[in-house]
Amino acid sequence: MNPTSPSPQNSHTPEEIALRAGLEFPQLLLPDPGQLFADRAVRLRQLAANHALRDYVMMLALVCEAQHARSQQHPAPTLPTPAQFSAAMEAGEPPLEATGWPRDASWRSELRALLQQVLEQMPGDSPAGATVRAVQALSDETLEQQADRLLAGITLGLDMAAAPLIAAGLQLHFTQLAAAIDPEQAKTIPVPAQASRCPCCGSLPVASVARVGGKQDGQRYLHCTLCNTQWHQPRIQCTHCGSTDGIHYESLQPLADAQAPQQRAAVEAEACDGCHHYLKIMHQSRDVHVEPVADDLATLTLDLLVSEAGFNRHGTNMLLLFGDSDPGDS
Ligand SMILES: [Zn+2]
Ligand SMILES: [Zn+2]
Repeated sequence: MNPTSPSPQNSHTPEEIALRAGLEFPQLLLPDPGQLFADRAVRLRQLAANHALRDYVMMLALVCEAQHARSQQHPAPTLPTPAQFSAAMEAGEPPLEATGWPRDASWRSELRALLQQVLEQMPGDSPAGATVRAVQALSDETLEQQADRLLAGITLGLDMAAAPLIAAGLQLHFTQLAAAIDPEQAKTIPVPAQASRCPCCGSLPVASVARVGGKQDGQRYLHCTLCNTQWHQPRIQCTHCGSTDGIHYESLQPLADAQAPQQRAAVEAEACDGCHHYLKIMHQSRDVHVEPVADDLATLTLDLLVSEAGFNRHGTNMLLLFGDSDPGDS
């Protein structure tokens, strides 16, 4: 593990900086379900090669491909009415609050259809197939109970083997909802300077991405683990407590390679000495293909090293949850 000091990476010319200063970048980026699950699946397949968790990563690629397929034919979601939307804004609550949102029953039929596609792509006798079939067979009541625990971040009583698959159905549902928010209405959703949770659904981020290209060039966005909305947060700032002091970066790269910013690892842990939390930051300028969920999964070793150094993760990856059992062992 290699600690490095913050580097804002001002590789732009003064003219470019002046030009960009006049551009307003959006505070909130709503998800594009037509693209994001497919991109995630491609990235997972790339990262699975030679990975210690190859079978698990490949299984998740199938899950993301099924999320993509279902997102193309998902029934139109029921959004908050304008009155409900305004009421949430006035109460300072996210309009699609994950723990309180009355989930339409269609999320369960979509989940079962998603799992059916996963099964059809799997070898018939794989142990993971048995898990998929078991989740498919869960009663509506059990699915709802498990979903409530997942969305509230409660691991007590959570079926850890089933959790990532149920999470995939919830991600599909909430991503469709967030994507259907009217863009003008989305502009009214407040994004506080230090939003540690998703302004749309109130869930934790999975990671943050320092982006390249367009109005967002050079800006850092946190990526929601549930609805895939992205929200802006300045760089070199703790995503848990908001502190801008005592921030350092850890990566898996050997020290000798870490001098030139462009050659540093594309995925780093941004750790805070004040509150001892961290979240990964992924740099598109170092690898344009980084994808928050996939690259987070593939850099589990970094989590182990940072947590051994005494840091707790701010954020969660719903496709890789930890409770009493470690899905990496299966
Ligand atoms: Zn969200
Ligand atoms: Zn902090």
